[in-house]
Amino acid sequence: MTGYWRRGMNLSARAADIIIIGAGAAGLELARMASRQGLAVVLFEQGAPNGRHLFQRIPLMVGKIIGNRRFVDAQDSAPQMAAGNRKLPVLTGRGLGGSSRVNGNVAYAGPPERYRHVFGPLGLDFGSVLQGLHVDPAAPRPLSWADALSEKFLMAAAAQGSPKVPDPDMEDSFAGASVLHVNTKRGLRHNHLEGFRANAAPQNIRIIRAPVERIILDGKRATGVAYEGGEIYAGEVVLSAGAISSPLLLMHSGIGAADMLQAAGLPVLHDLSHVGRHLKDHANLRLQFSCPGHNTLNQKTRGVRALWEGVKYLLGRKDSILRGPGASAGANFANGDIFSDAYRIQLVHFTQDRSQVSDKGIVFERAQKASLGIYALWPKSEGSVRIAKEGTQIDPGFLTDPADVVTSLRGMAQARALMAEMGFAPDPVDAPDEEVLRNGVYSGYHLIGSNRMSVDAGGGVVGPDFAVHGLRGLSVCDASVMPDHLSSHSYLPTIAMARMFAQLRGWAA
Ligand SMILES: Cc1cc2nc3c(=O)[nH]c(=O)nc-3n(C[C@H](O)[C@H](O)[C@H](O)COP(=O)(O)OP(=O)(O)OC[C@H]3O[C@@H](n4cnc5c(N)ncnc54)[C@H](O)[C@@H]3O)c2cc1C
Repeated sequence: MTGYWRRGMNLSARAADIIIIGAGAAGLELARMASRQGLAVVLFEQGAPNGRHLFQRIPLMVGKIIGNRRFVDAQDSAPQMAAGNRKLPVLTGRGLGGSSRVNGNVAYAGPPERYRHVFGPLGLDFGSVLQGLHVDPAAPRPLSWADALSEKFLMAAAAQGSPKVPDPDMEDSFAGASVLHVNTKRGLRHNHLEGFRANAAPQNIRIIRAPVERIILDGKRATGVAYEGGEIYAGEVVLSAGAISSPLLLMHSGIGAADMLQAAGLPVLHDLSHVGRHLKDHANLRLQFSCPGHNTLNQKTRGVRALWEGVKYLLGRKDSILRGPGASAGANFANGDIFSDAYRIQLVHFTQDRSQVSDKGIVFERAQKASLGIYALWPKSEGSVRIAKEGTQIDPGFLTDPADVVTSLRGMAQARALMAEMGFAPDPVDAPDEEVLRNGVYSGYHLIGSNRMSVDAGGGVVGPDFAVHGLRGLSVCDASVMPDHLSSHSYLPTIAMARMFAQLRGWAA
């Protein structure tokens, strides 16, 4: 805990202009912008890491800490009834930066047309927000490392109808292929935590390292929060705890579907039936192939080769595998309407046993193999975050909508065609494709939608102004408010949510 609020101290008078719960992607960006407006900000963060650990800075090394409970909360999902009844790991980051400090660092905000499609009906125009986030052609966002295998993939994608483009974000159709754009600077991960450090007004921010337990309501107005150390009051509370914790915190505060709260033994202070519903993620499948003649991370992270990659990194060479995630290139494809049945295929330079996220993080296999990751870009399947006497239940609802199965099966066929075009053969599978898909998908870690934005309480949790329907003084601003996926990834779209929140309040970005 930092700042002058000490444990056990109850501040009954208004102690801040704004309390932000969660210092993840959205929370940090909001705190930065609010503090620059001269607002007194209290920023709560449950996790201790300050985001400066070396493995949170060197792009590839983050794979080594995603099994470490200090940096990442890992929970089992509910059995996925449309995905082999498996319980799948759901990962979220903790500490300054939240999930953005342990993520794959891939940087796609999504095309403007998709924002118009999703937010047009809500009356929000993201035009200027996206201009601030999209790649400036004069200073493009950095690219990941790439090698001869990446080049083969991009040529194959072009031959199969997804031509190489400078940046899919710049294409209204979101079509095309590219080496992955990443949030890095001089080979180090560089995202909005660095922006926060460089541009916030620290004299206006108190960071409190403690989990918020409950939002305090006075009738239908949020007045503050309760945590282990006491209570703090403010003019406004903004919940930015992410797509899993934000709906849960609302529920623990008595805000949610009355029947569910009652069954869980929680008070009902504000009956709001959509809290926790509409959770979405990208259901990600990988198909493996042998790639003779091409060493992948399976080889390059061992022995002398690993040493050489380290030396190249220290010398600032752009081809060191340490400078990017384990994937290097991606291609978006659509057979018909780009915003209906599109899918993405990414070249992943390793193979792993995905059922294991051990305390050693991602463990690469040894064979000379790579894989293609496949997912429907705009999945229709949705699940929920629920609370019960027995505990919480996270259900991403993978592949529950048949349309996603159809799109993913097309993606599998396309991935095999890409492998053939590259001159490789997919590893044989011993089951029909639909079975392989249902038994093989994992979380893409792009969780959204569990407090989705809607015109009124009949369709979601927050209005187009981010305020919780029917309450005053309480807003939600994080990945949970997105009504649908906006991009192939969710970090920059989350920053877009924070920037829109600021724009609506007239704060300078
Ligand atoms: C392993 C992984 C890989 C990913 N890869 C990519 C990628 O390559 N590209 C991409 O665009 N996106 C990626 N993402 C997704 C992206 O990082 C998230 O969409 C984004 O960070 C969500 O931001 P958020 O603000 O909603 O939540 P978060 O960034 O998760 O922040 C929420 C914060 O709230 C804190 N918190 C929660 N509850 C409380 C409480 N009660 N009190 C106080 N604090 C609390 C948490 O500790 C956390 O710091 C990945 C995510 C993960 C987990």
